[in-house]
Amino acid sequence: MNKIIRIQMETGEIKEEYCSKEEQLLAGRALTSKVISEEVNPHCDVFGSHNKLVLAAGLYAGTTISCGNRLSIGGKSPLTGTIKESNAGGNMAYKMGKLGIRAIIFEGLPPKESLQFLYISEEKMALLPANEYKEMPIYPATKKLRHQFGDKVGISIIGPTGERRSLASGIANTDNEGRPSRYCGRGGLGALMGSKGIKAIVLDDSNAKGVTIENAALLKKTQKQLNKEILNNEALGRFTKYGTAGMVDITNALGALPTHNFSRGAFDLAKAINGNNLHEVITQRGGVGNPSHSCMPGCVIRCSNVYPDDQGKEKVSPLEYETISLLGSNCGIGNLDVIADLNYRCNNLGLDTIDTGGAIALAMEAGVIPFGDELGALNLLNEVEQNTWLGRIIASGGVRTGQILGVRRIPAVKGQIMAAYDPRAIKGLGVTYATSTMGADHTAGQTVRMPIEHHHAKGQVEASQKAQITNTMHDCIGTCLFLNGALANHPEWLSDMITAIHGITCSYEELLSIAKQTLLLERDFNQRAGFSDQDDHLPEFFYIEENPDSKTVFDVSHTEMKKVFDFE
Ligand code: SF4
Repeated sequence: MNKIIRIQMETGEIKEEYCSKEEQLLAGRALTSKVISEEVNPHCDVFGSHNKLVLAAGLYAGTTISCGNRLSIGGKSPLTGTIKESNAGGNMAYKMGKLGIRAIIFEGLPPKESLQFLYISEEKMALLPANEYKEMPIYPATKKLRHQFGDKVGISIIGPTGERRSLASGIANTDNEGRPSRYCGRGGLGALMGSKGIKAIVLDDSNAKGVTIENAALLKKTQKQLNKEILNNEALGRFTKYGTAGMVDITNALGALPTHNFSRGAFDLAKAINGNNLHEVITQRGGVGNPSHSCMPGCVIRCSNVYPDDQGKEKVSPLEYETISLLGSNCGIGNLDVIADLNYRCNNLGLDTIDTGGAIALAMEAGVIPFGDELGALNLLNEVEQNTWLGRIIASGGVRTGQILGVRRIPAVKGQIMAAYDPRAIKGLGVTYATSTMGADHTAGQTVRMPIEHHHAKGQVEASQKAQITNTMHDCIGTCLFLNGALANHPEWLSDMITAIHGITCSYEELLSIAKQTLLLERDFNQRAGFSDQDDHLPEFFYIEENPDSKTVFDVSHTEMKKVFDFE
């Protein structure tokens, strides 16, 4: 699995190259960030010919290791201007692994405005015209592609907002059943893909040789131990039952559940949108509903779900915590059915639910519609669909929406809206938001499950540093962060499985070292792009406006936060 495919959009030429022996451990985020850092001018026009879009599979890609098939997508972010990596589950990385592909890199720009697919199978690689898919929303476009290429293909696809280069647009990836619902949502990478004139990447692995495992016995043994540990782990069991929505009760109790554009940290209707209620609604409605769904081959945690309507037909899959909060509590909406509709609409248009939820809440704060206006929120997405001026603004994400509407309290760092954790109540995440190389992003350094007093400033820099390194390590291997819960006593399983698959010696310490080097490389790119320590802070209101539910402000000092990157 060491093939790198480069597509030169100007000429249409497709070239193959191979990772060298020294590059064997470079995958996922380590690879996307290395390519961007070394090959992209940090000052380049994000939609110009010098930016690149990189898709990279992880080190377990093509196997059935639980949570081991995440796909990393990177570029210079149209939303933040920083380096960007956004990753998602689904079946794309699995198929890349089976086809022996480690990365796909789009370079340059097409000579004229056009829309194409990239199709790859064992026998063929080609750019194919996609003009008939222009402005087609993601669900019907995916259905049509599966009809054209067969329902076993994997697809990464953008919606109309990506084609329009809207800054809040993401890239959807198919899940185990072919739903285009696993989103590399953050950073406007859908707009970058749109600027390359690529509507979709279609992977057909039907005749693929698959991964050659160097030490099948070691892999089988380690996988068995890992799966047993996952199934016996109480905390991971809660993920299986409630999904990520189990987080609603935790953040609500901490005063960290974003509510009414981050003006509160607890929501009156939290019980209506929490993991318990989600589980109950799904199981009571039955039909195709499934509270414990696996988004990729081999996952035994199964934190995903299929949310049905009252007739048992699918409304959306998955309905996740971040979306429930940003499109729900943060907009004053406490109705899972409405949140599911908003989620489906965002997915179909190709929008990141976090930045779009932030934009809708900011429109509410500006008085365009009131908080809690369910129909009004759906109408704002109609505006996006109809490509009106207001719709274009919303699809540009929270920061642009807030600025255009004259809102002062914009909960964002480096142009990206915060995820579903108020940084005054989970201060380690506040440090991550402020200092991350990716802008405000919870997956860059999640501290909520760390044994630390979240309301106090003490120890948060160390917590964030540890989380940023560990999270980056998982991004570089291509695994879900949740896997960490099963590795507390056996971190070496991570490296053992790499040794088993690739036949190369590898240690856990080496994996941590790759993560650290990746973070430093990303930080260096951002510095060359013009960012400095001065950009590593939260919006002013978090320092002076008390969160009424946690009774705290953000008070980790800037001097302390500078220590986050004190490592080699
Ligand atoms: S834990 Fe959740 S996100 Fe990760 S692979 Fe499983 S279903 Fe997908």
